[in-house]
Amino acid sequence: MNKNEDYIVRGTAADGQIRAFAAVTKNLTEQARQIHGTSPVGTATLGRLLTGGVMMGSMLKNPSDVLSIILHGDGPMGKTGITANAAGEVKGYISNPTFQNPPNIYGKLDVGGAVGNGTLQVIKDMGLKEPYSGQTALITGEIAEDLTYYFATSEQVPTSVALGVLMNKDNTVKQAGGFIIQLMPFADESLIDRLEAKIKEITSLTVLLDEGLSPEDLLNRVLGEFGLTFNDTMPAKYHCDCSRQRVEKVLTGVGKKELDSMIRDGKPITVHCHFCNTDYVFTIDDLKSL
Ligand SMILES: [Zn+2]
Repeated sequence: MNKNEDYIVRGTAADGQIRAFAAVTKNLTEQARQIHGTSPVGTATLGRLLTGGVMMGSMLKNPSDVLSIILHGDGPMGKTGITANAAGEVKGYISNPTFQNPPNIYGKLDVGGAVGNGTLQVIKDMGLKEPYSGQTALITGEIAEDLTYYFATSEQVPTSVALGVLMNKDNTVKQAGGFIIQLMPFADESLIDRLEAKIKEITSLTVLLDEGLSPEDLLNRVLGEFGLTFNDTMPAKYHCDCSRQRVEKVLTGVGKKELDSMIRDGKPITVHCHFCNTDYVFTIDDLKSL
């Protein structure tokens, strides 16, 4: 993979007792920043969630499966959400993208303070009648810890999630990425202890990202001594699949009665896509033709 492109790598270690994902997401995080005009803390929040989400999307089995993660936080930044698929495509939104708070006690961007308390919701739409939905409490609002807790309680998979976003002085994205490492149910106890000790050695993911470590390097740092094998890589990108045609479908879906009432109101209708900030305007004539 080209070093300047975003991608996800997937691997296994310890004879399949460990599965691992790592990603660099600098470009897609920068794109999200530009689309939403996020403040530094907004970029960090959305970037971390997009990074975790794009890796979790790559865990989906079928090409048509879709995964969404929503942070229902009561903090001043409001709600943050992402949607990802199995092809490495991800998109996101944030209620108050320009909100910025002072740094936390460690001098870092205070994502947890901006997100606040609340819940983390994961929805997996796998084409069944009812989508799967799991909800857990936000632990710190820093996102990696919250996803770790989600995996442990909602999916009963011991998991370590690390996510990082680094900013340039001009608040553009310098580097972004992360990893997800999971223990399979048949993993033995001694392995768990060794892995935990190894993960503890990674004190700062952002430092490693700043050093320019690739996803392969990141996983090697943690799993190099566990017999790590890489299974595949896939490009990751910010992608919104909205279109005028899709919006038309939604509008026709609301029913003739609703449409007639919109036409009688005599005002054009604007449908806003909160993932890519595109406005679709429908004039009365457009509505009539629907
Ligand atoms: Zn869109």
